[in-house]
Amino acid sequence: MELYDEIISCRKCERLVAWREEVAFTKKKAFMDWKYWGKPVPGFGDLNGQVLVVGLAPGAHGSNRTGRMFTGDSSGNFLYPALFRSGFASQPDSKFLEDGLILRNMYITAVCRCVPPQNKPSPVEIMNCLPFIKTEIFQMKNLKVVVALGAIAQNYILRIFSEISQGKIVFPFSHGRTDKLPGDLPFLISSYHPSRQNTQTGKLTKEMFNQVWAKANLLLR
Ligand code: SF4
Repeated sequence: MELYDEIISCRKCERLVAWREEVAFTKKKAFMDWKYWGKPVPGFGDLNGQVLVVGLAPGAHGSNRTGRMFTGDSSGNFLYPALFRSGFASQPDSKFLEDGLILRNMYITAVCRCVPPQNKPSPVEIMNCLPFIKTEIFQMKNLKVVVALGAIAQNYILRIFSEISQGKIVFPFSHGRTDKLPGDLPFLISSYHPSRQNTQTGKLTKEMFNQVWAKANLLLR
């Protein structure tokens, strides 16, 4: 089975399957006329690209509604304009699956593909889901830079690359840090997640986020 089909048909985590379907059924007032995606959300972009962006999990009324990573919610409204400004996205808007958005030299994925209650997947649920991102990483033959959005994404990315390199790679999370992972492994840039909680409180500003993508561009030169 192709990876895409494998992901969107997965029902491994009972709690998350129930939640993603419940959210898709009950919906939100503003989106009552939508047919929610309500399934695991596959990665989006160019697997031949050099940059991999890793988020945590779909938003209840964002990608669980639209079926595309970071599409249709406040996180995406902060992320895609930044990607557009830095040349990685063809347009600043990301509203729905067929809106024409193209990612350049970049693929976006997440450590957990189903929307979790309170935006909190359990460690077991993330571990269940990790084989999907591992497969994507193996498919990205030109991978040079990974951008982890948030501490949880960073930790699981380090876990995956520790496995690949057969040596433990651990370091604390801090926004903006950039590390070259050992051997042939890519650079890792860590960033705060562009969640509403972070962007509305000023924890993550537009300028801080611009610097993340500028750094990614610099590392590709
Ligand atoms: S979180 Fe991942 S492993 Fe769990 S049901 Fe969704 S797609 Fe499957």
